[in-house]
Amino acid sequence: MPYGDKVDCILVGGGLANSLIALALHDARPELKLLILERSDRIGGNHTWSFHTPDTNAATQRLLQALIIKSWSSQEVFFPGNHRILQTGYHSVSSARLHDVMTARLGSSLRFNAEVTSVASDGVELADGTHFEAACVIDSRGISNSTAWELGFQKFLGLEVELEEPCEQERPIIMDGTIPQVDGYRFMYTLPMSERVLLIEDTYYSNGKEVQHGVLEKEVADYAADRGWKIARILRRETGILPIVLAGDIDAFWRSNPNPDVPCAGLRAVMFNPTTGYSLPDAARVALKLAGVRDLRSAPVATLLRQHSIALWHQRAFYRLLNRLLFIAAEPEERLAVMSRFYKMPESLIRRFYASEVNYADKTRLLVGKPPINFFRAMGVVRERFDMRS
Ligand SMILES: Cc1cc2nc3c(=O)[nH]c(=O)nc-3n(C[C@H](O)[C@H](O)[C@H](O)COP(=O)(O)OP(=O)(O)OC[C@H]3O[C@@H](n4cnc5c(N)ncnc54)[C@H](O)[C@@H]3O)c2cc1C
Repeated sequence: MPYGDKVDCILVGGGLANSLIALALHDARPELKLLILERSDRIGGNHTWSFHTPDTNAATQRLLQALIIKSWSSQEVFFPGNHRILQTGYHSVSSARLHDVMTARLGSSLRFNAEVTSVASDGVELADGTHFEAACVIDSRGISNSTAWELGFQKFLGLEVELEEPCEQERPIIMDGTIPQVDGYRFMYTLPMSERVLLIEDTYYSNGKEVQHGVLEKEVADYAADRGWKIARILRRETGILPIVLAGDIDAFWRSNPNPDVPCAGLRAVMFNPTTGYSLPDAARVALKLAGVRDLRSAPVATLLRQHSIALWHQRAFYRLLNRLLFIAAEPEERLAVMSRFYKMPESLIRRFYASEVNYADKTRLLVGKPPINFFRAMGVVRERFDMRS
């Protein structure tokens, strides 16, 4: 497409959310002219995005199918005195596959090294001065700085490694909490991509953002050695700091948006599970929602997505309460016990939890009984901070 053309829809940021929107729109309405503007030279950055089977339905699975690099039919967790295999499927999408699929299906709509400096409801401007116009502009440039949230962090460093010999790990280890607990709640996460290739991540639910890459890299290597996995070479490194929202004010967040008529999606629109930081299931659902919109103009789409974001926020108040219990009420050493207790719950509850679909009975079950947190501290957190309004 010649630069400067008018298109139907400009997608600002070639990350997960906008890529799924582009694929869904292209599939439903191939006549639409799309333009995806990405500041880097690749779609999707350097990520492995995963999800549990129940996080998706038939429609979102169809959208994601071509992007999945590996699926497993079960997963397992380890805690001191508690090893459990869950018969819940798990799937991984890689940014490399997303880049390839986007290039194959939408290659002429992609523009790389395109730093967007100004976004309006009818067009955008790039750092080099180029303007593009469109009836609809969707901003998914990742999380925006806001004072509307109180945050904790899920931070991690992962190594994708090739082993000297095939290993027998056949299913993902979603959490191995048997490792030493430092800097909050800590666990190792392992995805066996093949007999000889593992993605191993040292992960922390922590109050601070700092990550000492060198230290964590050694921790991953030591963990692999402890499990008898001899690393032949490191294929790839992956790091992340995901926001874990403890409390906030969604209305203040949207009021402070300088461009209310510009639709936002993905992390930019706070569409993620507050406890896991996962945004892929929400991004897939939003993509399909937009593919069904006939009036693809910025203002009505902005209203639709803002309302969706606000609805998700209110539906997920319970997750933020749990985050506060975990990050504020629980002493760091109690967090492991909280997670271990969670993984003793019925598998159906765990599935609903990850799918952001806990019901009233689940909430009661998670909070009553013997949560391993000091009751009075926990009540303080609930009373004082239980969410400004939700
Ligand atoms: C390492 C990592 C692993 C994760 N794993 C999972 C997971 O397993 N499952 C899950 O559901 N979630 C996961 N998440 C959380 C979440 O799904 C991801 O952060 C996801 O990428 C968010 O999608 P997004 O489209 O909102 O933002 P991003 O994917 O971050 O996309 C934003 C894009 O906008 C571009 N951009 C920014 N500013 C500009 C500009 N001015 N001009 C042009 N382009 C710009 C960026 O380069 C980027 O490509 C993970 C996050 C990280 C960091």
